[in-house]
Amino acid sequence: MAIATLLPATTAFIQRAPRMLIGAEWVEAADGQTMPLRNPATGEQLCVVPRATVDDVDRAVLAARQAFDDSPWSRTRPRERQNLLWKLADLMQRDAELLAQLECLNNGKSAAVAQVMDVQLAIDFLRYMAGWATKIEGSSVEVSVPLMPDQQFHSFIRREAVGVVGAIVAWNFPLLLACWKLGPALATGCTVVLKPADETPLTALKLAELVQEAGYPDGVFNVVTGTGITAGAALTHNPLVDKLTFTGSTAVGKEIGKIAMDSMTRVTLELGGKSPTIVMADADLGSAAAGAASAIFFNQGQVCCAGSRLYVQRKHFDKVVADIAGIANAMKLGSGLDTSVDMGPLISARQQERVWRYIEMGRESGATIACGGEQFGPGYFVKPTVIVDVDQQHSLVQEEIFGPVLVAIPFDDEADALRMANDSPYGLGASIWSNDLAAVHRMIPRIKSGSVWVNCHSALDPALPFGGYKMSGVGREMGYAAIEHYTELKSVLIKL
Ligand code: NAD
Repeated sequence: MAIATLLPATTAFIQRAPRMLIGAEWVEAADGQTMPLRNPATGEQLCVVPRATVDDVDRAVLAARQAFDDSPWSRTRPRERQNLLWKLADLMQRDAELLAQLECLNNGKSAAVAQVMDVQLAIDFLRYMAGWATKIEGSSVEVSVPLMPDQQFHSFIRREAVGVVGAIVAWNFPLLLACWKLGPALATGCTVVLKPADETPLTALKLAELVQEAGYPDGVFNVVTGTGITAGAALTHNPLVDKLTFTGSTAVGKEIGKIAMDSMTRVTLELGGKSPTIVMADADLGSAAAGAASAIFFNQGQVCCAGSRLYVQRKHFDKVVADIAGIANAMKLGSGLDTSVDMGPLISARQQERVWRYIEMGRESGATIACGGEQFGPGYFVKPTVIVDVDQQHSLVQEEIFGPVLVAIPFDDEADALRMANDSPYGLGASIWSNDLAAVHRMIPRIKSGSVWVNCHSALDPALPFGGYKMSGVGREMGYAAIEHYTELKSVLIKL
């Protein structure tokens, strides 16, 4: 067992009870209320952070509004926005270990994995978005304007920053999800108020320090910590917000979408998933089993596009399930600071309880627990679990569990696999494991999901748009698609 030593800077950050950034000020909540954060590996209190009031959120939005409408930021050139984003990414690189340790203590995930995955992916993404800052283009159009036949015109289309962005994120990849929103917002010239998840605001607060250090003008990035019901709702309802971007559950996303439609606030929703992993008979079964295990167990299964439904062609079903169960049984669970650990705790006692309820539901309905099916503490641990003998219509197959629980079902042929893969309210991701090129290409267009991976799962790249079909959301993050979501088009017609 090798326990990573906490950096003095990590301990100091937590001990000083971090505050929120509104405009230029690091502040407590207006009424002085705080909320406790817990270390999911032990259940112990880590520190407290401000519990923002509606007033706090309104002040943060006003700061972002003023920074967008009338500050040096509103006049920055693309090259300056590019350089600032690079500077921010460089500062994150400098503090990568600190950011990873904060993520580990606050979320429970492995510090070592967080450093090479969460933090590095966030840095790479910001650098990718820095590149877009200098490549945002409109176009010029030759127009006819039939009602004014004797006139001449010059016409062009401008792509302009959408304005003040209200960003609300989930707790499973706190820093990365925040950067998926911050990157395109800062590349296009927007300003941001970020409401991190109730449970995991620490890396967002550290990020805000780095934004200041990078030299962004006051008010360009604001962070309010607090609950969804108060701070999140206040951000959603604030009329000075031009665009809402939300990552979280489908239930809350639907509510935010309705509120946004009421005021015609632009909105992007990145929501839940129940992604299928499809193993065809011709697949390399060893890598398919390893890939399917990692697709569900990475980050304790708390991944929106986790491969939580496994479909294996019938003749190999028992072998693939046995191999995955073998991998699961060999996994060591423990604190994310222990570098020998394969899986950490779930985010909270509430999430542990939720995942446990699904496992119990499976048992009660006669499903077979092929491995796992145990929970333990202190901390919020659930063993990696594989469940078989379960019907496609069962809640275990249809609902998002958001934990290390895989349900596995055999299929007979390609049509059967596609039917079951698409039989879900969600459509975020899907993987096909096969070396039959023709079958793979037949299947890709027929799968109803925002991403399809072949012989891999949850492989993301800053250049590839990410988002969902169906109940998995509206809009896309990453790639040029994200730039489109943070800009408005303005058509200009000049009579000469
Ligand atoms: P959640 O919807 O409960 O909370 C997400 C965020 O919304 C939090 O910051 C929370 O404080 C806030 N919130 C809650 N109620 C609110 C309200 N009434 N108004 C405004 N804000 C409110 O989700 P969660 O449990 O934190 O996260 C897990 C979910 O996130 C899963 O469904 C997962 O699939 C999804 N997710 C999706 C993606 C994606 O890219 N599609 C990525 C990560 C997580």
